[in-house]
Amino acid sequence: MGNLVSTISEQVTKQARHRCGYCLTLEIVSGVPLILEQIIPKIKGGLEVEENLWLACHLCSEAKGTLTEAVDPQTGLSAPLFNPRTQFWISHFAWSHDGQYIIGLTASGRATVEALSLNSEWRRRLRAIWAQC
Ligand SMILES: [Zn+2]
Repeated sequence: MGNLVSTISEQVTKQARHRCGYCLTLEIVSGVPLILEQIIPKIKGGLEVEENLWLACHLCSEAKGTLTEAVDPQTGLSAPLFNPRTQFWISHFAWSHDGQYIIGLTASGRATVEALSLNSEWRRRLRAIWAQC
């Protein structure tokens, strides 16, 4: 209390609107705090600065690991992973009509869906429950 300078963590959380930058899971429904995720991992020269941080859920963060690119299953070519800080989610992804699948619209979108397993069975089951709320 009384600290006028918000921490990087607070700032990024606010910018990310308390949701995972990749699968859009809200912190409040994830049951655990979201992770401050390095977009470019330290091992590849990423810094612990605001410009390189975004919020991610545990599933996305673990799946992403140190990846910065992955194969687009449509073309078989490597594509950079979606960058939640500099790119718009809706430019790269869409929801299926039943709200259970995330559909990649671009090479980066498709590569990210695949690499982060955004449509794993467990995730789809959870989304089906949210959709009923
Ligand atoms: Zn996520």
